[in-house]
Amino acid sequence: MIALGLAKQCERGELSRQSAYAQLIEQHGFAGHTANAYLNCYKHLRNGTPMKATVSAAAIRLMLDDLLPLGPEALLTALQALMGHIQYLEGLNSISVERGLRAVHQKYMGQLAGIAELESLPGDLERRVQASITDSPSARAKRLAEAVQRPGVIYRVVREYDRNPDVVAEVLLRANGHCERCSRPAPFVRRRDSTPYLEVHHVQQLAHGGDDTVANAIALCPNCHRESHFGNVMPVSKR
Ligand SMILES: [Zn+2]
Ligand SMILES: [Zn+2]
Repeated sequence: MIALGLAKQCERGELSRQSAYAQLIEQHGFAGHTANAYLNCYKHLRNGTPMKATVSAAAIRLMLDDLLPLGPEALLTALQALMGHIQYLEGLNSISVERGLRAVHQKYMGQLAGIAELESLPGDLERRVQASITDSPSARAKRLAEAVQRPGVIYRVVREYDRNPDVVAEVLLRANGHCERCSRPAPFVRRRDSTPYLEVHHVQQLAHGGDDTVANAIALCPNCHRESHFGNVMPVSKR
């Protein structure tokens, strides 16, 4: 049985922790603390929580390779755990270890971007809010009473477009402090520099093949911007 197989069996509950630990030491020559770190590492990669003890970058790579066939979600979860670990090491100033792990993280992030439509990954708050709303008031009240008050931290993969700052600047200048949809003045000025707060939105979204050009962009007040993404569009004449 390979070491990874032992960690997997242990995680699935098919093998006791003690037995997996003993076999790692007896059959694979692991030191005690390494065996513990190894088993913990696999567990954290599966549930997305940052591990504390470090295993080698090579070992993590083997684990990630093994998770690949399970799909983007499993890989994303594992990469969240790994990034949490890297940030933990950052706090300890373990620069050399951290660098190796960062390289691993980067490599698999690349794979993730290749295999997944990231936007469609679950874990979204909106879906869970919907489930909560349709649940009974008593069930919701019970969960609220028992809920942790300090939320945990999750790490997300974000794929963003590298937008052209000149387009944003040009559109903001064109708008001259007024929303280009409702024509009202910007609702407030930026704390940073007292310029009118408007958001530059793409009429045809970049994700739908729209271009990052002045012609395809429009400066919106926050209300109109949210509406254009989440609302039902009202005819301009009814505003
Ligand atoms: Zn507006
Ligand atoms: Zn937008």
